[in-house]
Amino acid sequence: MANPGQEIDRIRSEWGEKLLILGHHYQRSSVLRHADETGDSLELARKAASRPEAERIVFCGVRFMAESADILSGASQHVYMPDVSAGCPMANMATAESMTKAWDVLTGFGDDWLPVVYVNSTAEVKACCGRLGGSTCTSSNAARIFEWVFSLGKRVLFLPDEHLGVNTGHDLDIPDDRILIYDPDREGGGLDGEDVGNARIVVWKGFCIVHVAFTVDQVARVRDVLPAARIIVHPEAPKEVVRRVDAHGSTSQIIKYVENAEQDSAVVVGTEVNLVERLAEKHRGRVTVKALSPSVCANMSRINEENLLALLETWPEQNRIAVPEAVAENARKSLTTMLEL
Ligand code: 13P
Ligand code: SF4
Repeated sequence: MANPGQEIDRIRSEWGEKLLILGHHYQRSSVLRHADETGDSLELARKAASRPEAERIVFCGVRFMAESADILSGASQHVYMPDVSAGCPMANMATAESMTKAWDVLTGFGDDWLPVVYVNSTAEVKACCGRLGGSTCTSSNAARIFEWVFSLGKRVLFLPDEHLGVNTGHDLDIPDDRILIYDPDREGGGLDGEDVGNARIVVWKGFCIVHVAFTVDQVARVRDVLPAARIIVHPEAPKEVVRRVDAHGSTSQIIKYVENAEQDSAVVVGTEVNLVERLAEKHRGRVTVKALSPSVCANMSRINEENLLALLETWPEQNRIAVPEAVAENARKSLTTMLEL
């Protein structure tokens, strides 16, 4: 009997260009080898928007990515996930309701705010952002989107990742005391009126469990044991870590960093371990690639060859990701603003 990988290859070839399989870099290699396109969040959103001939799009990643693919693809294209329970805990740290509350708090201090929503968010939060005239961003274009807000003479409300917001502000030379943290669990977000007057960015107190696992001690240990190694982390890591390493960037930027590393050098990477292990394998003998610490995204790991094959064989309706048009309409505005910028 054929193994799941061979069966997937067979069904995939029958579909031709009517099927598009997208895979995020954090997927396990056995899944990613079936993807027609791989990429970081921004690249995959663009790819989903640019393949109208694909009747079905299978997203091997987490739910917010599949929702964006559905919002950006045509009405007759259907998006599916091999396991719809693969969510992103950080995306669930802000709701449209809690965002609206924060918006009311901030606009009580002035009318010069604009929301920037990380794509790692629910479709409802993106829709709220679109209604308010804001834009989404990814880890690879956050600085560009913040600059756009500043060019309009506005200030940024960023959600839901505190760390990407703080690290992006720092990249743009904004002092830490002009970046405030909004805690949705505290009255009024825990903001102090005087500080808000001086703030240029307010960031939501959300985090990614995979990236807050990276610590200053781990960086110090690498500097001790492998002094010649360069260290790169994803900007969802805390600022204390990001400021002690050599570079930070999105998953695709991390891949390029390793590709550009010199022969016989060492690169230590602080991001999801599936990507780090794949880079170590690919560059073995040329560059030594090591994990800063082996941090796993349990949700990304829910996708495997077995549930991918089960999806391709029977296309169950419950595996479909269909964002209601009433939400998609405004969410599309915030995603399109990002893609156009
Ligand atoms: P990228 O946009 O860098 O691929 O990151 C997505 C993500 O979920 C990081 O945790
Ligand atoms: Fe979400 Fe973190 Fe997993 Fe990325 S790595 S999908 S932010 S939980």
